Order: sequence, then structure tokens, then C-alpha cells
Amino acid sequence: MAAQSQAIDIAEGTSSRLSIAKAEEAGINLIKQSDVSSWAPMDERVAVFTGRCHRTSRPYLLKYASVAVPGTFSTGDWDHFYGLEGCYPLEESYFEWSSIVPLHAALSTSQIEGVPPCPHCGARTTLAKCSCGKLMCCNGPGVQQCPWCDQSVEFVAESHGAGFDMTRGLG
Ligand SMILES: [Zn+2]
Ligand SMILES: [Zn+2]
Repeated sequence: MAAQSQAIDIAEGTSSRLSIAKAEEAGINLIKQSDVSSWAPMDERVAVFTGRCHRTSRPYLLKYASVAVPGTFSTGDWDHFYGLEGCYPLEESYFEWSSIVPLHAALSTSQIEGVPPCPHCGARTTLAKCSCGKLMCCNGPGVQQCPWCDQSVEFVAESHGAGFDMTRGLG
């Protein structure tokens, strides 16, 4: 009799812990799969780039938001491209308080929809890329100085379909 009552006491004292253990044993996921997919991290939905105006050397920020488009219908996969949300002129202080850590995930221009003009000088594109990996504005083919690394860069007219890769940064 004594041994039996002792066993009951233990079960009552640890009842909550036991029920969780049982759920895990039974293979029950406490978080539904649908909940997990809706918790995709923000940096997968928003792509933020910083560049500099090649004339004024002042920085700017490009913000793109991920847009899901149907991919191959047979697999049901969804692809993503990034649509332009805005282009904003920045001050140098942005780099002082912002925790910009360049992600080295490459994003091709074929995934980018919309190229804004430079907010500082009005140059045609803000997505010209130097060999140093940084972005600057560009108004057409020719040689210009990179506002990040000071080297001369020659830009040629971009042939259609030939995208270039960009370095993604955290906002
Ligand atoms: Zn510019
Ligand atoms: Zn450069």
C-alpha cells in the first residue's frame, strides 16, 4: 500500500512536464507547419541596397520588397522578384547609426523590377556596380570615379538580358 501511494504523488507533482513529454513522444508538433512558413524573416521579404552618387558622393538607399510570382506550375513552386519600393537620399550619419552588415547573398538584376534615378543628381540608374562591389549612380556609358574606392570605372551600355549581381545589405 505504501509503495502505491508514493507513485501517485510523483505523477501528480510532475503532471505538466509529463504531458509535454508525451506530446513529443507521439510526434506532435506544437507549432503547425503553416505557422512556421508565415514567420519568414524580414530580410527575405525586403532587399535594401546602399549606393553613392558618383557626382556628389552622397549616399542613397534603395528599398525593394519581395513579390511572389508563380513559378513552374508543375511543381507548384513560387518564385520571387523584388519590386521597387523607394529610393531615398541618405546622410553620412546613416552609416554611423545603422548596423549595416553586407550580406554576401547575390541578387541578380533579373530579380529586380524597377531602377530609380539618383536622388542626388538625377542620373539615370542607381544600380551601377563597381568592381569593389559597391553601387553608385550612373548616367550612361563612360568612365567615372567610384565614390567608394576612388578607382576609375568604365561603364558600357548594358546588353539586354545580361544582368549583374549586387551585394545585398541589411537595412
Ligand atoms: Zn547621382
Ligand atoms: Zn569602387
